[in-house]
Amino acid sequence: MERKKSLQIQALEALVPRLSHRFPRYQDIQTDLAKRMKGYIGEKQMDYHLTTLDGPYRIIPDVHLTVNGDYFQIDTIILSQHAIYMIECKNFDGSIHFDTTLRQFTRNDGQATKGYRYPPTQAEKQKLRLQNWLLHHQQHQAIPVYYFIAIAEPSTIIEVTGDEQSIARLIAHSEHIPTMIAKVERQLSERGVRKIDTMTLYRLITQASREKPSHILTYYDIKPADIMPGVICPNCSTLGMQRNYGIWICLRCKHRSKNAHRRAIATYQMLIKPEITNQALRAFLKVKSSFVVTRLLKSSGYHFNHVKRTWSKINDVSKRQ
Ligand SMILES: [Zn+2]
Repeated sequence: MERKKSLQIQALEALVPRLSHRFPRYQDIQTDLAKRMKGYIGEKQMDYHLTTLDGPYRIIPDVHLTVNGDYFQIDTIILSQHAIYMIECKNFDGSIHFDTTLRQFTRNDGQATKGYRYPPTQAEKQKLRLQNWLLHHQQHQAIPVYYFIAIAEPSTIIEVTGDEQSIARLIAHSEHIPTMIAKVERQLSERGVRKIDTMTLYRLITQASREKPSHILTYYDIKPADIMPGVICPNCSTLGMQRNYGIWICLRCKHRSKNAHRRAIATYQMLIKPEITNQALRAFLKVKSSFVVTRLLKSSGYHFNHVKRTWSKINDVSKRQ
């Protein structure tokens, strides 16, 4: 299963080129996007290391579950014949420090030391959540659940004061995670732990996993009117392609595109409204003709709902049910 960019990243990427540089939180938004992208790249690198796992493992990236109204996210779940492994990927530049007696966690990026929530406590909480979720889904067989924290940056220095072993069992640089899993697997297999029906579990988790929609407009206090309309050039990212005889033309780099409107329609749906009216899309694409907009919607896989008088994609409807 390929790891996709989160809805949050997709929304931020769609948003940034449509905001004025003078927008009050423009810098914050760019910083947040860069931070999230760094996280995503770290997770992709971890995925690459996980390909070295040898055996009948099923890997599920980016899992979003809810139990008793409590929503939780896990970067990766690995199902093996004997256990479930939860992996959380963390990006820390510089050095990180665990104090197992005081249960404190700090990071020093070379300039300042900052405290964070203590990862082993978070690990326990996440494990409990998943165990609860499994119980809620009729998985009464006590499946062993393990939790690992993968440090994405190979240059991050890990320091421990106190019980080094307890930290070493939980945290490592991404490249060491497969070895840690293989070691636990071997121990469980030697103990003769009952085998898991990984296929059923895989289906159960992937079908239930659903990412929360991102409410970035509310979060950054952005009004729909702050989002600049128009079609973005896929070549040079300039906003404001012009439509001429069925082709989008970029006035800046002269790039010509047949389908540049597709991204704009998806952006409209993601940031402004899931249901599209012809009139609203005319304004957003800056196209005068309602016939042209209808044709663009149809050729992009959208269908008209005669009751609501709006357009949407068939798979959008089924996803929300
Ligand atoms: Zn261009």
